[in-house]
This record gives sequence, C-alpha cells and structure tokens, in this order.
Amino acid sequence: MWAYFAVFALVLMAILWFLQIFFLNTYYQDMKIRETAKVAEAIEKLYGSDDFRAKIDELSITNDIYIYIETFGGGIVFLPSSEDRYYFSYAYLSELKMVRTALLAGEETQASIIIPEARTDTNTLAYATYLGDTPENRLILYIFSPLYPVSSTVSILRTQLAYITVISLLLAFALSYYLSRRVTRPISEITSSARSLAEGKYGITFKGGQYTEIIELADTLTYASSRLEKTSTMQKDLMANVSHDLLTPLTMVKSYAEMIRDISGEDAEKRNAHLNVIIEEADRLNLLVSDMLALSRVQSGSIPLVKSPFSIRDVVESILQSYAIYCDNEGYTVTLLCDNDVTVVADEAKIKQVISNLFNNAVKYCGQDKQVIVSVKKSAGKVRCEITDHGSGIPQSEIGQIWERYYQASTNHVRGAAGTGIGLAIVKEILSLHNAEFGVASEPGQGSTFWFELTA
Ligand code: ADP
Repeated sequence: MWAYFAVFALVLMAILWFLQIFFLNTYYQDMKIRETAKVAEAIEKLYGSDDFRAKIDELSITNDIYIYIETFGGGIVFLPSSEDRYYFSYAYLSELKMVRTALLAGEETQASIIIPEARTDTNTLAYATYLGDTPENRLILYIFSPLYPVSSTVSILRTQLAYITVISLLLAFALSYYLSRRVTRPISEITSSARSLAEGKYGITFKGGQYTEIIELADTLTYASSRLEKTSTMQKDLMANVSHDLLTPLTMVKSYAEMIRDISGEDAEKRNAHLNVIIEEADRLNLLVSDMLALSRVQSGSIPLVKSPFSIRDVVESILQSYAIYCDNEGYTVTLLCDNDVTVVADEAKIKQVISNLFNNAVKYCGQDKQVIVSVKKSAGKVRCEITDHGSGIPQSEIGQIWERYYQASTNHVRGAAGTGIGLAIVKEILSLHNAEFGVASEPGQGSTFWFELTA
C-alpha cells in the first residue's frame, strides 16, 4: 500500500515538475498574447468615446503595456503619456517597424511577434491590429508588452516543488500506513480467528474494524462459525442419539433372545410374548434406520424430483387407508376435508412421504380427543394441505427447531420414545426441493396445524 501511495505521489510530482519547469515560459507567453488581444478588443470598443485618451492611459498602466496608434501613413494619433514617451521611442521603434511589416504583409487582422532582447533578458511581445471600421479612417493600434524572464520564477518553483515532493511523500507514507493499519489489521485478526475456527474453536466472534465490506465479511464469518458450532453440537447429539437409539432395541433383542434360549424356549406362551418384544424392537430399529436413510437420500439430492400431475385426494386416502385398522383399534377419529378432483404437480412418492410423516406425527402427538383433521383446499393456483390435531402443541420458542434433524420438542419427551426426530427434517427437505411454502401454527395445550402449499 505504501509503495502504491509513494508511486502515486511521485507521478503527480513528476507531472507538476515537468509542466512547471518546461512549459512555464510557453504558457506565460500564450497568456500574455491572449491578454493583449483582449486589451486590443477593449480599445476598439472605446475608440471614438470622449475620454478615449484617459481610458487608454489607464489600460496601459493596469496591464503594464505600451500603446501606440498611428495612421497608415505614419502620422501619430496616440503616444504613451509623457513619462513613458521617451522610453518608448528609445525601446520600441524597431519593434514597431517589425510588427507593422508583419501586419501589413499578413492576411490576418492582427499580428503578434515576440522579439528577443539579449541585453536585458526581457523579451517583448509586439502586437498590432487595425482600428476603426471604414477603410478611410483606419488606424493601426500597437501594443507592446514586456515579457519578464521566467527563470527566477522557475527557480522559486523548483525549491517549492522540492519541499512539496518531500512533504507529499511523507504524507503518502503516513496515510498509507494509517489506511493499511485500518484495513489490514482487521484482516489479520480475521485470519487468525479463522485459523482458530479451523482448529475447531467454534462460536468465535470475528471483528471487522471500520470498513463496511470487512464488517460484512466478519459478520458472515461469525454467522458461519455459530452455524458450525450448532452443526457440531448437532453432530455430537446425533452420535449420542443414534447410538442410544440403536443400542436400546439391540440390547432388548439380545436379552429376549437369550431369555428364549435359556428359559422360555419350551413355554409357547412366554416364548411368543418374548418373540413379540423382539419383533417390536426390530421394527423400531427398522423405522429408525429407514428414516435415517430416507433423510440422507433426500439431502444428498441423489434422487431427482419426478414431477407429474396427480390427485392429492387419492394420495391422502391411501395413507388414511393404511392407518385405518390402527386408528380403529386405538380409537382415533380421522376427518378428511377435501374436494373431489384436486390435482397438484409434484413428486408423488415424496409428497406421500410428507403427508405420511405429518399424519403420523398428528396421530402420535394428538390430545385426549384423539382427533386428526386433514384438509386440502384449492385457491388461486395453489393447493393448501393442512393436518391438524388437538394435542399438547409446540412451545413458540421451539417451533423454529422442530424442523431440524434429531430435534424432539421438550413437551413431547415423555412420549418421544416412539419418534426418531427425523420425520420433520425429511418433510422440510422434500418441500424445500419443491420450492413449496410450509409451516406450522401451534398453541401449547391447544394443538398444532402443520401446512404446506403446492402448485396446482
Ligand atoms: P419425531 O420422530 O420425534 O416425531 P419429527 O421430526 O417428526 O420427529 O418431529 C420433531 C418434533 O416436533 C417431535 O419430537 C415433536 O416434539 C414435535 N412435533 C412434531 N409434530 C408435532 C405435533 N403434531 N404436535 C406436537 N409436537 C409435534
């Protein structure tokens, strides 16, 4: 940064040096010619006015010039005032002849020449133009302006520029040092925090300094670190949950199998009861493993969505059908509110899994009244599916988390034995793949309504 700033300052200084020292003279002469032309214009306008003489005297004093007007034949019309007259005729007569010749020979209405003066080093700008608008009363106006040597100015400038160069280099150094500290310090801090993050220290807060972009970067990294922390905690929980969930049924299977071998093998009644426990535990293992597999399959995206139009009523009915005997036996009342032909465009198998998971939860967590209501409504190109129960509901603070893997709400832990905490994560993945809107409205103690919307 320091190098860039120094180069920048040096280039600027070089341009300044170059322009001031090499072009100052040319610039000064051009400026003088322009100014003289302007004065000539002013005189042309004044020509004929009452106080013409006084005005011209004034102009010559203010602009440090000598003005001379003559007829074509050489008759003097206007001479500089008495004090300057002597000097004028001594200094400028030869110049006058030269510029007159240049004006008369040229096509232009004015002529300007710079006449070098070796002795005094002060060159002269001689300017001539016509005055008066009719050819009969035409006069020639001469203006002579001394061009003072710029060499002394150049040497002053040179000294000043040397100071400016040193000052600007020092400033460039100070500024670049300050800026680089402001920019690079937070970046180095972010780098070292990122290093600690890579070493597994999650939950680090990144500090961004004062620049918006770096602050944004730091905030994003802080967010990433908090997400990593969460993921890591979830992963640990997952390992604990999964090993616990797998271990319990496996222990049961093993101990009941041993029991059959050692004790109840001959007693048909006891043996069957024990075998039933083994079968139930194996079912639970099956459920757990198949849920985990289903989730990882949707998450990996290895199975693409196969969208096609299908009747959502048929899908819901087939799910209810498979639960019918269970619901009858356990005394659940399932109400279906659905129009006859509601078609959606989606992946049928996956939507079936979504409805099945939501329905399964509603049955699992429904209240004393054992009622589950499934409603399918069609409106403005969308089909909204709602599954309602009157169970214990979900606390507001946990609603955001229930969609995460292995999350089981605190209110349902007692009955949570039947769940794996994966069902809603699968629902979320599938609905997100469909770009569908979904959510839950829940009042603790009143029940919950899980809903999603698909394209009709
Ligand atoms: P689980 O296998 O534990 O049911 P889910 O992912 O399906 O896992 O659900 C996550 C958690 O959300 C559940 O443990 C439960 O606490 C809560 N939950 C889901 N559906 C309902 C519901 N209908 N009523 C109350 N709580 C629910």
